[in-house]
Amino acid sequence: MKEKEQIKNLQSDLSFGAPDSNRESAKRIAIFGSTGSIGTQALDVIAANPDKFSVEVLTAQNNDELLVHQALKFSANVVVIGDEKKYGKVKEALAATDVKVFAGEKALEEVAAMDCYDLMIAAIVGYAGLKPTLKAISNNKAIALANKETLVVAGDIVMRKAVENRVPIIPVDSEHSAIFQCLVGETRNKIEKVILTASGGPFLGRKPNYLVNVKREHALQHPNWTMGAKITIDSATLMNKGLEMIEARWLFNLKPEQIQVVIHPQSIIHSMVQFEDSSIKAQMGLPDMKLPIQYAMTFPHRIPNTFPRYDFRKPNTLTFEDPDIKTFRNLALATEVLFKGGNLPCVLNAANEIAVYAFLRNRINFLDMTDVIEKAMEHITFIEKPTLEEYFESDGEARNFSADLIKL
Ligand code: NAD
Ligand code: MG
Repeated sequence: MKEKEQIKNLQSDLSFGAPDSNRESAKRIAIFGSTGSIGTQALDVIAANPDKFSVEVLTAQNNDELLVHQALKFSANVVVIGDEKKYGKVKEALAATDVKVFAGEKALEEVAAMDCYDLMIAAIVGYAGLKPTLKAISNNKAIALANKETLVVAGDIVMRKAVENRVPIIPVDSEHSAIFQCLVGETRNKIEKVILTASGGPFLGRKPNYLVNVKREHALQHPNWTMGAKITIDSATLMNKGLEMIEARWLFNLKPEQIQVVIHPQSIIHSMVQFEDSSIKAQMGLPDMKLPIQYAMTFPHRIPNTFPRYDFRKPNTLTFEDPDIKTFRNLALATEVLFKGGNLPCVLNAANEIAVYAFLRNRINFLDMTDVIEKAMEHITFIEKPTLEEYFESDGEARNFSADLIKL
């Protein structure tokens, strides 16, 4: 079977143990990045459905107190604290329990390889999520993927491994969840294109003369979504949509020209698929990440919840416009790397992580972020078909180059 078909069949047909009736036992969940925006909302979904899920693994980078609180509340089996200096504190706080405590980057991979869970919710932010997710795939774990950077950095390798191991990668990102939901029942039907919707972020309609003075507090105010700091800045620069184009390319095995971005400020249509017969399917709802998180956890089933519903009877207008890529140049750069491929998406991602980090610390201004990324793309040697090792190297080189440029 051709790889394209294999991916489609996997993504559309696999039912990997979502509880259908009460004769099935609870699905065992590992949340990598449990203290973040996605991680905490995943725990909300679990708290509302205690018969359907059990919490096996929780991980956090710095927030030891929240990690301990979560471990106690959900009776976790294993926790990992990324910051090794906090190991003693976490260990002591959980001394009276059976919770196993690990620390450090390597431990994330070791725990990802454990047998004790069925589904990984990949909710670490940035490149740091790649290695644990790869480890989980190698160990035949189903993945609910929030960490889009994993696919931006090494999407070809990650998806190939997933196909080889027959591991479903279920998107959590709302746009990709929308596309995924539109594709249910369409296994044999060709996609003409996907239309990714974007809210446009807090600076929709603004021009460079305004953006140059934008400060972090302002950029952190997203109109429709409450998210972690990095993705909120990415949404303000439209880099988030660029990363999502690359994510969509790998998740749905698309050609770059099959991916279109449209600005839809109300965030009610989460994305669309257009088929060969011109029919367009859209997935809609209020902007609430709990829905795509829940769907990824229960796929192929849907389960009831009490989330607020969108009401068509209320006066409202849905609008659509082209993105302004002359102003929001990050989207133009991301489109360029989507088409050129190789190690360029990995380089773009690494430079962007450094640029966002520097912007959040008031070290560079809003527009400087794009310059850093563009210079890194020019500087790092292009590799057309990188190995995994070469992706790691490109990431490191792009990070060092960008940090030097900013004098971090
Ligand atoms: P966040 O910053 O709120 O949380 C990140 C989590 O990752 C935390 O638990 C943190 O402890 C952990 N973490 C951070 N750095 C780490 C490192 N170096 N090593 C190990 N763990 C680390 O981020 P978030 O908003 O929850 O986003 C998580 C991922 O989901 C991102 O890739 C983001 O693009 C994606 N995503 C988020 C949303 C959203 O609504 N928040 C929507 C779509 C996609
Ligand atoms: Mg998204």
